[in-house]
Amino acid sequence: MSPPSINKVNERCNDKSENENERNNGDVIIQNSFASPLCMSGGDGDNSYSTNSLLQRRVLSKAKPVLIKNTKELMINLNFPRYIKVADLGCSSGQNTFLAMSEIINTINVLCQERNQDPPEIDCCLNDLPNNDFNTTFKFIQFFNEKNTTSKELYFVSGVPGSFYSRLFPRRSLHFVHSSYGLHWLSKVLEGLEENKMSVYIKNSSPLSTYKAYLNQFQRDFMTFLKLRAEEMVSNGCMVLTFIGRSTIDNPLHRDCCHFWTLLSKALSDLVVEGLVSASKVNSFYIPFYDPNEKEVKEMVEKEGSFEIKDLETHGYDLGHCNQDETKRSKSGKNEANYIRAVSEPLLVAHFGDAIINILFNKFAHHVSQHASCKNKTTVSIVVSLTRKKTFLMS
Ligand code: SAH
Repeated sequence: MSPPSINKVNERCNDKSENENERNNGDVIIQNSFASPLCMSGGDGDNSYSTNSLLQRRVLSKAKPVLIKNTKELMINLNFPRYIKVADLGCSSGQNTFLAMSEIINTINVLCQERNQDPPEIDCCLNDLPNNDFNTTFKFIQFFNEKNTTSKELYFVSGVPGSFYSRLFPRRSLHFVHSSYGLHWLSKVLEGLEENKMSVYIKNSSPLSTYKAYLNQFQRDFMTFLKLRAEEMVSNGCMVLTFIGRSTIDNPLHRDCCHFWTLLSKALSDLVVEGLVSASKVNSFYIPFYDPNEKEVKEMVEKEGSFEIKDLETHGYDLGHCNQDETKRSKSGKNEANYIRAVSEPLLVAHFGDAIINILFNKFAHHVSQHASCKNKTTVSIVVSLTRKKTFLMS
């Protein structure tokens, strides 16, 4: 079956107005009517997400101190509960989700031993969109179990298919939410960006209206996300969220010359010049992605109001290929092409078909290698930890 075209997806996403999704008491209960061609490449082959997600693993390891600190604080604030429910939102396919889960389980285990407390039973809920290849994820459970043989807690792993821009869990049931590299993905592909020619995303020469349209969608999506999690989480529950972001505050259009979407746009333009793709096809394709800066993240958390920010950190976005010699550069060009292919191939295939994919990413790898010595990159990872403020709702 061929994937739905992006315009059709938009129509479906827009089926329900935001108001229709609201209950009288103001709680948002957006249902899982959401469908999207967005998913990472499944399986464990050469082009799969599972094989090409080392970058995301590095990001997880940089966020580890914040994850550990917040897990400990959660256990202490909740007075060592006998049961906790943890969710990884946007777990994707492959082993990365288990790295985060192991860290949480391990931290709880060590803390309980140190404080002479009984360990809790832990529910580990792995969420992603229904198109995600959960089978590949679940195959890694064996390694996860082996890694945790010394843990004294009982833990239970389950899959939760659905959009994190919809309700996923019963009210006040979640204690800890982790989400790494999922929230920069928007709930839908934007429309009305025709002025942004030959570019799949914001670039330095985009009109300001393009930035405004993306920012607006990010704000709506992140607000929805926070509202829904606020319903699902217990008081003092904790979230650790990591986004791809940008370190610039001043010029909202500024993106690195070697920003991955800028280079993907260049590779698509090459295909237009070679007559393999039409310009109009490129001009109607946009990536449903937004890279906020710290200020934009903070503003939304404060505006929504249910959570308090505890930590907010920015880390370098490390593709690991600066200042390399020519052979290494060409290899790292290929590596980055594989990373970006693994996260965007299903979206690209839904719009352009699969015939252009190999050639497109060969061009992409070439463009990456041309930028290997670029410095002063403004693309970063933003890690934020949040605590659910106390609620005094009547049940
Ligand atoms: N956390 C993993 C995966 C990051 S890739 C890691 O660190 O490796 C981002 C994942 O978020 C993808 O699997 C994508 O399908 C998922 N995602 C994007 N939008 C989503 C949504 N609205 N709801 C649930 N998952 C989503």
